[in-house]
Amino acid sequence: MDFVVMAFGLLIGSFLNVCIYRIPRDESVVFPGSRCPDCGARLKPADLVPVISFLLLKGRCRYCSRPISWRYPLVETLTACLMWLFYRHYGITIMAAYYAFIGCLLVVVAFIDLSHQEIPNGLVLALMVVGLVAKLAGIGAGVVDGLYGLLVGGAPLVLIAVISVLALRREGMGGGDIKLMAAVGWCLGWRLTAITLILSVYIGGLVALMLLCFKIKGRKDYIPYGPFIALSAIISMLWGERILYWYIGSFWG
Ligand SMILES: [Zn+2]
Repeated sequence: MDFVVMAFGLLIGSFLNVCIYRIPRDESVVFPGSRCPDCGARLKPADLVPVISFLLLKGRCRYCSRPISWRYPLVETLTACLMWLFYRHYGITIMAAYYAFIGCLLVVVAFIDLSHQEIPNGLVLALMVVGLVAKLAGIGAGVVDGLYGLLVGGAPLVLIAVISVLALRREGMGGGDIKLMAAVGWCLGWRLTAITLILSVYIGGLVALMLLCFKIKGRKDYIPYGPFIALSAIISMLWGERILYWYIGSFWG
């Protein structure tokens, strides 16, 4: 079963790649079929086998031999691992499907934010709708919990945004980040959202510090926050409850 889930994850990842490339360009994610972004050649089914095609072609387009982005095999492998993790945690359940679906949306958000410095509103809206459908079906966090989550996720970032504009006179937090965090809150409920928020601050801070130390980024450079929200939300969906007990426990010794 593990193998089936991983293979399924690779295929989903391949579709997420299409979304990551096309959504910021306002293109349909369904039609037409995949083309090489450099030479425009229609890709054959043999070129579209996740990861394996990339390895066989040694990372180059079969037609124009220009390099294919490392993002393609990375997103495919990542998605396969995610699907497997959700399967191991929740089995073949509706809960696993719900969280895996949110995970997929977050992967798309993270990679679009990395390459375009924007979080498309359509994806935030998709998260809100998925959360609403789940609530109507009685899956995951309830409506009240979701509304608290929306506040727990959105309000601190709004506060940070206001403070950084007033005190530092610069934009510290984008509107897209605030909307994304609020939508995550709506889907996950307030407890997992609190964990997501705390994790994203720690992980984001640590990575920013490393990028500055190794001089990969300068102090004035923009570091997108969306990928950290996405990663933290995924960690929360998988291990959130455990982290919560550990975190609370560490205060009372
Ligand atoms: Zn090409």
